Amino acid sequence: MSENRVIAIDGPSGAGKSSVSKRVGAKLGYLHVDSGALYRIMTWQCLVRGVDTSDPAAVAACAEQVEIECRPENGAIAYYVGGEAPGDRIRTPEINAHASPVATVKAVRDRITALLRGMTRYGNLVVEGRDITTAVFPDSPARFYLTASAEARAARRQKEEVEKGIANQTAEAVKASLLARDAIDSTRKYAPLRKADGALEIDSTNLTLDQVVETVLNALPDDWK
Ligand code: C5P
Repeated sequence: MSENRVIAIDGPSGAGKSSVSKRVGAKLGYLHVDSGALYRIMTWQCLVRGVDTSDPAAVAACAEQVEIECRPENGAIAYYVGGEAPGDRIRTPEINAHASPVATVKAVRDRITALLRGMTRYGNLVVEGRDITTAVFPDSPARFYLTASAEARAARRQKEEVEKGIANQTAEAVKASLLARDAIDSTRKYAPLRKADGALEIDSTNLTLDQVVETVLNALPDDWK
């Protein structure tokens, strides 16, 4: 068992997990781990291979074949598929629409959970996702549940999509997509999104990024600060 530390951050889409995790990681020198990107990579590979994402057996078979290389790079764990970084190809509205169904498949979750647990060998981690506090690292003494209103989350995601040139959807369309994903993520059978007992809930609707980061840092065990 690795002695390395894990800060675990869960929450629905657009709650600010990525920005907060990256900042906390940079402050403490912990590696940032985006677990959602792994589910997005599996989804992307299913679509590239023409797999029907509503067919769990087909998704499970595809997930077994996808080789994901994980390695520390610039303060984060970077992912490669066939030697290539997926980049924004895994951030499209199409991937958004298929990622939650893919993430319901147990074989997919088991593979990604094993990958995430193995990453502690690289150092201390800040891991963000939907089941990090409940299923992947439930014993971490530093667990957080980040939320925000649906409107605030949609507005943030829409701005991000436009700024990155990924899509140009209305706030309403982004909100509908977020809520659809949240509904699947929080009602699925395996490792549904929920606030873990003992996790600190932070509602970021009316907080700045700095305030959320401060709240997380202040709540860490004393000898981690
Ligand atoms: O965080 P992100 O929006 O990139 O995640 C994409 C999808 O991956 C989520 O909607 C969810 O279905 C799935 N996911 C998950 N468990 C995680 C992280 C992401 O099921 N730990």
